[in-house]
Amino acid sequence: MLLSTRAARALPKAELHSHIDGSVSARELFRIAKENHRPMLTPGGDELRSSSAFLRYVEGGGYDTMLETIVDRFFPIINLMQTEETIRDVGASFMRAKKADGVVYVEGRFAPQYHTKEGMSIGDAIRSMAEGLAEGAEKYGVHANLIVAIGRESSARTGEEVARAAIASRSAVALDLGGPEEGNPPEKFAKAFDVARGAGLKVTIHAGEGAGSRRQNLANVRTAITRMGAGRVGHAIDLASSRELVSLVRAKSVAVEMNPISNLVLRKIRSPKDLRIDQLLDAGIRVSLNSDDPSLWPEGELSDVYSSVCSAYGFGEKELDTLAENAYMGAFIGDREKELLIKDYRKARQRL
Ligand SMILES: [Zn+2]
Repeated sequence: MLLSTRAARALPKAELHSHIDGSVSARELFRIAKENHRPMLTPGGDELRSSSAFLRYVEGGGYDTMLETIVDRFFPIINLMQTEETIRDVGASFMRAKKADGVVYVEGRFAPQYHTKEGMSIGDAIRSMAEGLAEGAEKYGVHANLIVAIGRESSARTGEEVARAAIASRSAVALDLGGPEEGNPPEKFAKAFDVARGAGLKVTIHAGEGAGSRRQNLANVRTAITRMGAGRVGHAIDLASSRELVSLVRAKSVAVEMNPISNLVLRKIRSPKDLRIDQLLDAGIRVSLNSDDPSLWPEGELSDVYSSVCSAYGFGEKELDTLAENAYMGAFIGDREKELLIKDYRKARQRL
């Protein structure tokens, strides 16, 4: 089945793995920068004056080293988002981007610890983002939930602070762990996730994306599930290579948020087929498709992801429906809401 990006866009989709600050177009970022009289700056203090200069900066010496230097690559965006107004605007703008991509339910994530350079607290940053998402949700008719992330290069103590602020905000559904994975395994933040789970937050963790080796990628996925209590894991690139881990993921009903185009751009894989999504679906693993940071590279929106995966694997309607419904099933929402959303999806798919 050939699923064009246009047809994929027309499908009402859910997205579980979406970084808010990596999903707002450069054009929108420059609008926000201008309206707030804040230049887009590099860490060295050079001003980026156009969308193309911004994208050139983000690409830097190549996307293959992006994950290791992710904090620097995001610097211009993070530096812009140091006020409540700019965070709210980015949040609302994110919802607009999701609407344009045909997403009807999204769990947007961001790491509030990076937004305290000019006096905001972690709690202020979370509140402002929740307000921005709510504003965008109302304006564009897309349902959103907020996931608060810890930047894993920071200390365990910062992680705990982020977890406590997420709980206190009452506006986050889950806690996540993101950023440079190599040298920062999930167990470093065991306490933060214990605190979060104890307060009723759900857990999703970036694991097995770029831990340095296949062995460590698999170890991080295992730890995320067994020690950190993750109900979902992000990436898990090498999952299909371990029968034992596939069994564990299935036994615990862990949903897997895959990001094929992101992995491809960051050279973690050479083809979407390297993820062996077909085998994982056959094994009963709840794999969903996600865009990760679509504004940081060309043709990376969720509709592009669906189109390229269906084409790479030769997937038909059955696999398309499974992938789309897996996203709804893995969402951190109630069963009734999942049912209603899936019903709408099925109706729309029949019309394709
Ligand atoms: Zn991610």
